[in-house]
Amino acid sequence: MQVLKFGGSSVGTTEAISKVIAIVKARVQKTPTIVVVSAMSGVTDQLILLTQTAAQGNEAYKTIIQSLAEKHEDAVLALLPASQQSKTLSIVKELILEIESHCEGLYVQNEFSLRIQDQLMSYGEILSSKIIAAAFESEGVDQVWMDARAMIKTNNTYSSAVVDKTLTNQSIQQYFSNPAHQHALYMAPGFIASNAAGHTTTLGRGGSDYTAAIYAAALSASILEIWTDVSGMMTADPRIVAHAKAIPKISYHEAMELSHFGAKIIYPPTIQPVMQAHIPIWIKNTFEPEHPGTLIEIASAKDDHSIRGISSIKDICLLSLEGAGMVAIPGFTKRLFDALAKKQIGIIIITQSSSEHSISVGVSIQDTHLAKIAVDAEFEEEINTQLLEPLIIEKELSIIALVGEQMRNHPGVSGKMFTVLGANGINIRAIAQGSSEKNITAVIEAQDVHKAMNLLHEAFFETAYKQVNVYIAGVGNVGSKLIEQIKLQAINLQSTLRLQINIVGIANSKKHLINLKGIDLGHYNLSGSNKSDSSYAQDWSDQLAAASSGNTHAGAIQDYVASILDHNLPNSIFVDVTANAAVADSYAQLLSKGISVVACNKIACSSPYAHYANLKSLAQNHHAAFLFETNVGAGLPIVNTLNDLILSGDTIHKIEAVLSGTLNFVFNHYAGGTDGKTFAQVVKQAQDAGYTEPDPRLDLGGTDVMRKILILAREAGHPLEMEDIVNESFLPASCFNGSVADFYIELEKQEPHFKQLYDAAAAAGCKLKFIAKFESNANDKMNEKATAKVGLQHIQPSLDFYHLYGKDNLVLFYTHRYPEQPLVIKGAGAGADVTASGVFADINRAARA
Ligand code: ADP
Ligand code: ASP
Ligand code: MG
Repeated sequence: MQVLKFGGSSVGTTEAISKVIAIVKARVQKTPTIVVVSAMSGVTDQLILLTQTAAQGNEAYKTIIQSLAEKHEDAVLALLPASQQSKTLSIVKELILEIESHCEGLYVQNEFSLRIQDQLMSYGEILSSKIIAAAFESEGVDQVWMDARAMIKTNNTYSSAVVDKTLTNQSIQQYFSNPAHQHALYMAPGFIASNAAGHTTTLGRGGSDYTAAIYAAALSASILEIWTDVSGMMTADPRIVAHAKAIPKISYHEAMELSHFGAKIIYPPTIQPVMQAHIPIWIKNTFEPEHPGTLIEIASAKDDHSIRGISSIKDICLLSLEGAGMVAIPGFTKRLFDALAKKQIGIIIITQSSSEHSISVGVSIQDTHLAKIAVDAEFEEEINTQLLEPLIIEKELSIIALVGEQMRNHPGVSGKMFTVLGANGINIRAIAQGSSEKNITAVIEAQDVHKAMNLLHEAFFETAYKQVNVYIAGVGNVGSKLIEQIKLQAINLQSTLRLQINIVGIANSKKHLINLKGIDLGHYNLSGSNKSDSSYAQDWSDQLAAASSGNTHAGAIQDYVASILDHNLPNSIFVDVTANAAVADSYAQLLSKGISVVACNKIACSSPYAHYANLKSLAQNHHAAFLFETNVGAGLPIVNTLNDLILSGDTIHKIEAVLSGTLNFVFNHYAGGTDGKTFAQVVKQAQDAGYTEPDPRLDLGGTDVMRKILILAREAGHPLEMEDIVNESFLPASCFNGSVADFYIELEKQEPHFKQLYDAAAAAGCKLKFIAKFESNANDKMNEKATAKVGLQHIQPSLDFYHLYGKDNLVLFYTHRYPEQPLVIKGAGAGADVTASGVFADINRAARA
């Protein structure tokens, strides 16, 4: 004997039923076969709705019956040859009439009961099994329809009845031992049974799997096959984890644990009866029958993974009893469990604090109310005498479980689990580990489940690569270059660093584009634009332009950040390539959620020290990276070098630097007007080349350099403020008035002032350089004082700074280990390409953190 069960989606359409017929026909010749079927997909839900609607006295129930009738009649018409339709159509009509008459009674009496709901739900499986039986008959298969209600006997718990195994096994064995009942194929409705009084009961949602297992165990079948719509039991629910893979072999215990903790693929009670009889279970896909699927048997397969699968249950609430008097209450735990059991409340997990002052149990959300009443009643006296607190209820939780028998031989599974969750800001409310070490479960907030499942799956099963979700704010020069660089480098990163960088969000100041699967960045075309060719995918800029304008007011960035927080994606990195204060203001929120921040924007790090320090500690506390290499010297490795020096125990005595690519460019190109170019014209040239801040006064007035030296001082460990930095500005005060356009006009007027600066330097054989200087007399701990200043200086040819061309920056670090000859970093300190590459390097660093 073999038992094959086909689920709702396998019998949900006539095309699917045709596949079922083909699969079964190929099998029945060899061995007698029981085929158990579910109701057509969606029908059980419809029948529940039907019961409720009729019981509420709502006439709309008639429409539901109408649609049920059509669905099943259509199946008959499509599956059976015309000559054989009428018999089955009249069976269907008769069953629909029965449904109608039950509903009329309900409609009049307005009285809902689980008993009548079971009665009505049973029609789903009866209809599907009768129709499929007729289809087999029309194919000439020797078959008989078998009434499960006559054989599977249960108690009176309607909607999730408990099977009387002895009685049930006897009736099944009796039926099959009757020589009159010998057939090639036995068609049976799943899910339904009856109680001693002969009333129809059901075995719980998803219960057809269990029906099949009951037949298999009673008849010592050679195999139980569960045919469904996925290719086996997978490492995680494929609706939650896109990379989940079918598990080729799994033990009964592992499958049981996975299903207990929410893997819907198999109904939990199914495994017990077949496990006892050592009957293997084979999970197969009706829509991909050639796929090997999953074999469930005694032994746990040995493979490289420390766990077999991950599952989750949503809609959990945690009930906790606490109280100093708990230890003194005899039989406390038993009383708690009995109180819940009496109300048939299933306990999904239990955790007890070792101090025995509290115990928590996880139950399904719909049991919360009942549980509260039952437990508070049980412990009324202890609560009144303040030995115990009333039952504490926490809602909107979920359980995640790692399952695998090999876990006990692999130390560190729970450590890895908690590290991964902790590193991504997922708060764990409770933890439990089965004493048999086949599972580790954690209770987390419901909103974190998707993220947690994907992170854990990645950590335990996807050694192949780590997925990183990047949100970009700002698509100006640097942002666009960055996207281009990521697009070009993506494949290499996958193969070298095993990183898969998904740009999931791109925003400008007005709107944002989001695609959680990764924005299609378009095709890279070395020869130029690809936009004219309509066969190409749209590139990101077109998609952003086409994105709904959404919130175009000043709050657009807040909307972007709100959606990022809402997505709650694992391994998220927010990249700020703007110079905008509102964007910088969002870092704290992001970091507190464990989202890393990579900033090109200097505003946050040069804001008041307390704010900067707060961001750093938020990052540390929430295991997020906060990186801003490009705040100083564009793509040059200045901040990182400084960090490495400090982390390796060095101390910084002095920093001297040309930190403004803009100012260096300007003073390298300004010849006091001798070449006909005014100072204003040179500044404009720098701006046009993309070397200045949007408002060039931030560069020329020294603010930008002040911010940079401030950031270096802070990273060197000194809590300086902007006000502590001396700015010997060369820009006349009048230049700071009005708009950028006004500024250029004023700059022209001030040409004599600039000429005079140039001439004085030239007369001394010097060049003009805008130098930032930081000093700390770190050797003198008693009088340690850090100072910083920025200003224009005459530089003689003998100095390093003299030989600084174009938009280059130069930084000299004088440290304890580099006392006389400084550590020197030199190179282009401005430009979109180098800045983007610095941002990209920070993204890679954050991704690998
Ligand atoms: P059927 O109607 O055939 O009984 P179900 O819907 O009850 O099918 O169960 C199959 C579904 O279970 C799959 O489509 C899948 O979405 C879900 N599922 C949840 N967890 C898992 C898992 N670990 N492996 C496979 N499927 C899973
Ligand atoms: N039809 C029932 C349900 O939807 C039983 C099953 O499909 O296994 O729950
Ligand atoms: Mg199912």
